[in-house]
Amino acid sequence: MSFTIFGICAFTYRKVSIMKKAQIFAMYYQRYAILKLVPISLILPSLKDKHLSVMQQKIQIQVPPIIAFNEQLLKEEVKQFLNVKDETLFVKPLRRSIDARNRNIKVNLTLNVFVDEPLVTDEIHFDYKDVSKSKTTCHIVGAGPAGLFAALRCLELNIKPIIIERGKNVKDRRRDLAAINKDHIVNPESNYCFGEGGAGTYSDGKLYTRSSKRGSIEKILNTFVYHGASSEILVDAHPHIGTNKLPQLIENIRETILKFGGEIHFNSKMVDLKIENGAIKEICVEAENGKAEFSIQSLILATGHSARDIYELFDSKKILIEAKPFAMGVRVEHPQELIDSVQYHCNSANEVNEKRDYLPAASYSLVNQIGAYSVYSFCMCPGGIIAPCATGPEQVVTNGWSPSKRNNPYANSGIVIGLTLNDFKPFSKHGELAGLEFQKELEKSAWLAGGKTQTAPAQRLQDFVNGKLSSSLPDCSYVPGLKSVDMMSVLGNLIGKNLQLGFKEFGKKMRNYLTNDALIVGVESRTSTPVRIPRDNQTLQHPHINNLFPCGEGAGYAGGIVSAAMDGERCADKVLELNNKP
Ligand SMILES: Cc1cc2nc3c(=O)[nH]c(=O)nc-3n(C[C@H](O)[C@H](O)[C@H](O)COP(=O)(O)OP(=O)(O)OC[C@H]3O[C@@H](n4cnc5c(N)ncnc54)[C@H](O)[C@@H]3O)c2cc1C
Repeated sequence: MSFTIFGICAFTYRKVSIMKKAQIFAMYYQRYAILKLVPISLILPSLKDKHLSVMQQKIQIQVPPIIAFNEQLLKEEVKQFLNVKDETLFVKPLRRSIDARNRNIKVNLTLNVFVDEPLVTDEIHFDYKDVSKSKTTCHIVGAGPAGLFAALRCLELNIKPIIIERGKNVKDRRRDLAAINKDHIVNPESNYCFGEGGAGTYSDGKLYTRSSKRGSIEKILNTFVYHGASSEILVDAHPHIGTNKLPQLIENIRETILKFGGEIHFNSKMVDLKIENGAIKEICVEAENGKAEFSIQSLILATGHSARDIYELFDSKKILIEAKPFAMGVRVEHPQELIDSVQYHCNSANEVNEKRDYLPAASYSLVNQIGAYSVYSFCMCPGGIIAPCATGPEQVVTNGWSPSKRNNPYANSGIVIGLTLNDFKPFSKHGELAGLEFQKELEKSAWLAGGKTQTAPAQRLQDFVNGKLSSSLPDCSYVPGLKSVDMMSVLGNLIGKNLQLGFKEFGKKMRNYLTNDALIVGVESRTSTPVRIPRDNQTLQHPHINNLFPCGEGAGYAGGIVSAAMDGERCADKVLELNNKP
């Protein structure tokens, strides 16, 4: 059998171009272990020809993690793979993904290899223009990823961006986060969701998105690298920046916007707008030194999913908005070691430690259909922290983040139920704000159960599934503290019962997942916006207000950092189109 395979390989090798040979060999080499017993030089004699040894080429290989994450070992592996010995070799990773489906964990790598050639690195360059004197302006409300990337795109398009942001700059914001964690004080203008960089600044910084059709993911990642992110994010299949690194990147983006003539107004909250002849004429802004009016050419509204006052303002002014389905649930936290041991197929703590020497903290993604409802994991944060993400009084809200090294001893994830518009019926008297009111009620329920502070209600996972109050709680990363409660009474039957069933199913899918060493913390209520601000598919303008561009997560067009950033860029492009109209 093995000789037949070998024969086929050798035959195939003579028939195809040299550039393809390495790829074909890699495929057979991965698939048939027997090939690994044969010296590579015997299988690939033709690869040693001069043509290959003085060139750069793209190869795909699969190697054990210990090799993948060690520059020197990887170089040796590539040398062996290409059957080169003394030649100078540079290896530039292009793509990296971990395949942990089996005990024998592998890393898939796409590499650019430079043999006897200097390493070529692509310089990232953006054509930002000095817009300080530009006659075309665009006001952008909200300095989250959508707003900031809209502003950067404006610089490329020679439009002057003027950002209005209710919160503080990154540094001043830090004090308000400390006050939430230590003193249970939530500043409604400056918190985990509001302030420079929006919800993105103190987020986890996972940059993975499925919205590849909405713009160039590569450009967004390159923009982050240009502003200081590690170029590793261009390589990893699931790129991650980490909460410790994000604030500096956001500051660097601010510097670019200011340097090229844009404006940023912090501590400035949009509270009203004046519409004339189907267009916004003015917005009214509340700032530290009183109210101010800004006259508007175009407005990109990128206020995020927590700007409830914006939805209420639109509703009160009869500006078209629509209720939108969204998901709510809890955050679950396990010891990271447990998740590592399951995902990396380990039998002992020692084995986990050995594997973790070269593998990152493991993550998971779970989904299960319970009748009409989908129960799924959301924003999983390996080696992370559960964050208190309330934006106002009488709320307890969870989310998660992790540092770039993902080295905290906990693994947390939102576990949520996808709700439908039908589920908001009990709140139907609130019209299009029905889902928002449901969300408010759940957050208040958590706040009451936790003791009217940022202390969050919690229960051990198995106890929750078995309907048993936990007599004690395990250690948890949530800094404001926990109170043991019956989470069913906080969540209500719709969310609570579906979660119980969902967790039971997860327990079947993932060994040791359903354990009392894990706990659930409530509530995970801000997975996406409960309200959509409609817009035309082509022009991205609000159907009734022609210079208003609803943008990003808050308007219902993004679900994370990268998709929000891409949406910001698209809106800026449409602002230019509107301005260029005769
Ligand atoms: C803890 C946490 C972890 C997260 N982790 C990830 C992750 O790993 N990966 C990921 O992709 N996403 C993550 N997210 C979600 C991500 O941060 C959001 O999807 C993204 O920030 C949405 O961008 P946005 O610009 O549309 O809105 P936002 O980031 O919400 O920004 C909106 C901005 O508008 C401002 N604003 C609101 N109202 C007004 C007003 N009236 N006047 C002026 N300004 C106003 C707000 O202050 C805010 O700065 C996380 C979120 C949190 C909270």
